[in-house]
Amino acid sequence: MMATPLDRDRCIGAFLGTFVGDALGMPVEGWTWSRIRRQYGEVRHMVPARLGAGTYTDDTLLMIALAESLLASEGRVDPEDLVRRFRKVYDPRRGFGAGMHRLVRLWDEGVPWEEAARRLFDGGSYGNGAAMRVAPVGVLFAGRLAAAYKLAVAQARVTHAHPLAQQAAGLQAMAVALALVTPVSTFDPEDFVAELEAALPASAETLRRALMLVLELRTYWEDRERVVHKLGNGAAAHRSVPTALFAFITFWRSFEEALVYAVSLGGDTDTIAAMTGAIAGAFHGVRAIPTRWWDALENGPRGRDDVVRLAERVYALAQQLQATGARG
Ligand SMILES: [Mg+2]
Repeated sequence: MMATPLDRDRCIGAFLGTFVGDALGMPVEGWTWSRIRRQYGEVRHMVPARLGAGTYTDDTLLMIALAESLLASEGRVDPEDLVRRFRKVYDPRRGFGAGMHRLVRLWDEGVPWEEAARRLFDGGSYGNGAAMRVAPVGVLFAGRLAAAYKLAVAQARVTHAHPLAQQAAGLQAMAVALALVTPVSTFDPEDFVAELEAALPASAETLRRALMLVLELRTYWEDRERVVHKLGNGAAAHRSVPTALFAFITFWRSFEEALVYAVSLGGDTDTIAAMTGAIAGAFHGVRAIPTRWWDALENGPRGRDDVVRLAERVYALAQQLQATGARG
């Protein structure tokens, strides 16, 4: 697998897939699937939003911060540097979660990151914040699942002390890392999920059960009530990362359909669609993003073109790491 040359278009797709899913899902964040259906039928266009159609939220901002930190540290996690960069992109208007608001306050008070992460929610957050930003890790370790998992957990620990949040971030990073090197022509959803399952550590029981459900539920995708009940659509990492994966493998043939479906489930729509977008973008490449979505994306500072340039730099570092066979 390591011999597979890295595909530049796919690496950029993982970044822009996150961005486009975030922007597509954000206007209906927190809605039930039935309310989305009543009001929009389906969300197939960038609909009006608080900061404008096509704007991004915390998902994209934290992905940018993580990527910049990984570049500065040459592919390693430097917790102090990460905290500095997360703090820098923090912007209350961009839909950051309650956990992040409290973390920022603790960091500003000088509380060390490890203690701050532990203090959240009685033993650490198990939210999906560490998974939604993780696309750059998948790119750095394309096709190297164990290495992707390890780095994803290391970056998760900085904000999420709960093992479920760390394991789910690991799973999401592995999904991106695997999608990047999986040929479209011979794709098999069961093989894809089996490879992820095999790479999960024994301790990740909850996620392993969820992966079984992901395969079982494929025939019932239209029964959104059931999918949401079984897999979840909330901000808990183990109740949203498998859901994002479900949208990808159910609609693996089409980037657009996977994202439209992810949003249609309601709940934490921006993050679930961002994570589906990361995997589907890694699989199909950036050219699969519909033009009308691409054109609508916010493009100022830390906007679309900046994220493309950032993705190119991470792609270059990934090539370097592959060439030198750097640490796994
Ligand atoms: Mg968000």
